[in-house]
Amino acid sequence: GDSLFSDIPYVPEPLVYAVMAAYKRDPSPLKLNLGIGVYRTEEGKPFVLDVVRRAEKLLVNDVSACKEYLPITGIPEFNELSAKLILGADSHAIKENRVSTVQCVAGCCSLRVGAEFLAKHYHQKTIYIPQQTYSNHPNFFASAGLIVKTYRYYDPATHGLDFQGLLEDLSSMPAGSIVLLQACGHNPTGVDPTIQEWDEIRQLIRSKALLPFFDSAYQGLVSGNLEADAQSVRLFVADGGESLIAQSYSKNMGLYGERVGALIIVCKTAQVASKVESQLKLVIRPMYSNPPIHGASIVTTILKDREMYSEWRDDLKKMTDRLISMRQKLVDALRDKGKIQDISIDLYPRFSCLRISVSNFTGTPGDWSHIIRQVGMYSLTGLNPEQIAFITKEYHIYMSSDG
Ligand code: PLP
Repeated sequence: GDSLFSDIPYVPEPLVYAVMAAYKRDPSPLKLNLGIGVYRTEEGKPFVLDVVRRAEKLLVNDVSACKEYLPITGIPEFNELSAKLILGADSHAIKENRVSTVQCVAGCCSLRVGAEFLAKHYHQKTIYIPQQTYSNHPNFFASAGLIVKTYRYYDPATHGLDFQGLLEDLSSMPAGSIVLLQACGHNPTGVDPTIQEWDEIRQLIRSKALLPFFDSAYQGLVSGNLEADAQSVRLFVADGGESLIAQSYSKNMGLYGERVGALIIVCKTAQVASKVESQLKLVIRPMYSNPPIHGASIVTTILKDREMYSEWRDDLKKMTDRLISMRQKLVDALRDKGKIQDISIDLYPRFSCLRISVSNFTGTPGDWSHIIRQVGMYSLTGLNPEQIAFITKEYHIYMSSDG
């Protein structure tokens, strides 16, 4: 007979998955996938940090390790070290015991658990997200029953921050509204406020009693320095006000598929923090009961060992320096024929034909300096859907149609 599910409408894949699928189908050896937020080697291969491999060997050889369930909130030491990583080792909020941290299934789950918690317990049900942001952001909040609205963030004319628009939109939000902020390395624009701008944003948010919800997925991958990249968050926490932080280790430790992250809620008092934590357990238990062990054990092993931690910091510096130099080389190549050699070497040296494809772009009219000004792993190139369709068809370069 007919399927009981036959009335279910078919939903097309989200843009990034459609790009990935098209990339997979393309038989060309020259193909490049720029549509996914992962750090790759110079050969275009997935990259596992040496320090992560070493931590995994230690874990495999640890006879005291077992596979029993973690507590609902995860590995206590992981939570403690994670809060210190983003808030700072000398954070007053941590010392005063007013930080509630729960290990979650990477950044996504930290956002979703935070969204569920707010939908259940917070008086305001509207969250404002940047008018251009990580494409999954609206889903976490809408799925939890919150109302999702946007605030102005990216200015296509300057390829930079629409700071005036942002301030105006913050000013007109109803008191108590939730505001999603990306801590650094804004996905997909590569545009971050300066520290002075952050402080203006903070003052406005606090004066209107808005609730900041930070998404921190790139700590260490913007400046190469873990402390510098946590400045936005620390500025908000230092004023004694309340904040939520969704923290991810997917990118900065290259643990993508291990799914490691944490939700951190900074409260005004220790008593509130403990009530919040008790409610977070009620959110988590019917969702996935308790988080997985392996990835969080890798992170804990690295964060608690002075020597491994310092190796990780060095890795972040190297990765970030390479990201920055690739931006520079790409822009040089777009402007100056003499630099073509450099860019093909740094991007994908195996594919010598790529040099030809890049050379066709030299002398490209316009100012490409925004590619250098933008930071982190992303850039909004300003290329339009027709131009992207063209480079995909002609040169097998895949990226999402918004540029
Ligand atoms: N937040 C932002 C801003 C991201 O860019 C991403 C992934 O690209 C995530 C969260 C999700 O990260 P995770 O893989 O840790 O769930």
